[in-house]
Amino acid sequence: MTENLPDTNVGNIEYTSKEDASDAVIKYLQLDYAYAWGVREAINSLPSADVAPVVHSRWVLGGYDDMYYVCEKCRHKQSEYYVKPTANFCPNCGAKMDKGD
Ligand SMILES: [Zn+2]
Repeated sequence: MTENLPDTNVGNIEYTSKEDASDAVIKYLQLDYAYAWGVREAINSLPSADVAPVVHSRWVLGGYDDMYYVCEKCRHKQSEYYVKPTANFCPNCGAKMDKGD
């Protein structure tokens, strides 16, 4: 009975805020106040996706005497002395460790 299941193979979906989308349309079309208000109303009437913004971070030396790697964002301490974690996300705050060195 898989024919009634939703299609979960939706590929890469990009999200933006309604405010940013509205601003882009209003700026592109150079709309006056009344039309800009209409664009904002139309875009705000669309359903919202339940998504969290992606937080970016990296492992940096920190903690006591800079002997441990910590998440730059939340300072969560990882691993042993001077061993840089290989995890690509912070287990404490969920930040993606893709900010680079
Ligand atoms: Zn963190």
